Amino acid sequence: MNDQTQNLPFPGNPVVPQTFDASKVIQFQCRKGIACWNACCSNIDISLTPYDILRLKRRFEISSGEFLQKYTVPYELEQNSIVGVKLRPVENGTACQFMTPEGCSVYDDRPTACRYYPVALLSMRRQDEYTDHTSYALVDEPHCLGHKEPRQISVSDYRKEQGLEEYDDLARGWRQLILKKKSSGPSIGKPSKRSLELFFMVCYDLDRFSQFVVSEGFSDIYDLPAEEMKNILCDDVELMQFGFRLLKQVLFGEESIPLRKEAAHERHLRHQEKMQRMETEAAARRAAEQDEMYGNPDE
Ligand code: SF4
Ligand code: SF4
Repeated sequence: MNDQTQNLPFPGNPVVPQTFDASKVIQFQCRKGIACWNACCSNIDISLTPYDILRLKRRFEISSGEFLQKYTVPYELEQNSIVGVKLRPVENGTACQFMTPEGCSVYDDRPTACRYYPVALLSMRRQDEYTDHTSYALVDEPHCLGHKEPRQISVSDYRKEQGLEEYDDLARGWRQLILKKKSSGPSIGKPSKRSLELFFMVCYDLDRFSQFVVSEGFSDIYDLPAEEMKNILCDDVELMQFGFRLLKQVLFGEESIPLRKEAAHERHLRHQEKMQRMETEAAARRAAEQDEMYGNPDE
């Protein structure tokens, strides 16, 4: 089973390269007793959303750090930039650790990619637009016999059946951050190592993020009203959503969390420095391009 919740179709990919909206009717059913039972879970490539991790660590009653260590591997979502996490298969194999002969042992909390399969979710965002566009495609892998079952269902009903409305709602903030990072290109500049670490902690290691929120380091910078602080500390989902807001602020300057006065001043100075640095770099790039085009008269 390959995660098709982010990628665009490309040659050699089992995604049929036709996209459609949620009203499209597909022919598909997965059921116990089907001849290909578990074939999809025997060879996995499943990316996890922050909400997938939250649900699974809650199910196992372990910390996010423990979950990450036992059940995931990191991967590069974008070259030299933001990191994602995937389910770690069994030792020396390709099967999912949660697969049993009876089926998925974490079925009620299975990740988004498992719920979507065999539908691919394609989120796209244009650089000049704020909102992203969603479309779908069908993944038709030869080992999956579900396509031969006689059930017709619209993608919209399939999403409901698979509990995806809640999962997509709660992953929206994270997807927007990734799309925004991908579509912003060099205009935003390369995120610092610190902000990339913050991205990883907020999105995937929620228990560590919770410790950060109660630390002096956080309260030295942010001036969060006591009521809001209470809300985010007693509800993991609220904490995760707050984290997405914080990342929007840190990575893209979209301020929604009040800063302490001194921190706001320092941030302003840092922002000015960054803009100056980017202008200097852009001027140097332009000069180098001109030299290349017209030759350097000093040479
Ligand atoms: S989490 Fe469940 S459905 Fe998803 S790959 Fe693992 S066993 Fe299969
Ligand atoms: S029908 Fe497809 S999704 Fe269901 S068990 Fe078979 S391979 Fe997996």
